[in-house]
Amino acid sequence: MAYSYDDENIFAKILRGEIPNDTVFETEHSLAFNDIRPQAPIHVLVIPRGKYVNYDDFAANASDEEILDYTRAIAKVCEMKGVEAEGFRMISNAGHNGVQEVPHLHVHILGGRNLGRMLTPA
Ligand code: AMP
Repeated sequence: MAYSYDDENIFAKILRGEIPNDTVFETEHSLAFNDIRPQAPIHVLVIPRGKYVNYDDFAANASDEEILDYTRAIAKVCEMKGVEAEGFRMISNAGHNGVQEVPHLHVHILGGRNLGRMLTPA
């Protein structure tokens, strides 16, 4: 699937330095920052610097180097936040049915409390 990328999305603006962010960790290809509206005591977003709309787009089209960097960045954030011990949740919303608000790939890392069941009935 070929996704079209919107250069004006808010995470693109963060990556260009036009909007501030509360950085947790960064690498050559990835940036992790605290969510502005946290839904748990720990709520970090991890994004690639490349222009990928969602995880499907990234997994299909990113370079091996980007995929390795991003995957390891997620692990580093989990380590920094100490979520392994008590557990956590990773979510990556995509598109309309996934109720994706920002069309730049982001993984939510949520922890610090019991997060309940994965989905509630619609
Ligand atoms: P999603 O619905 O998966 O696209 O989630 C988008 C997330 O981005 C939401 O949890 C928002 O709170 C978060 N968000 C939006 N703008 C910002 C921002 N400027 N800095 C940090 N997080 C943001």
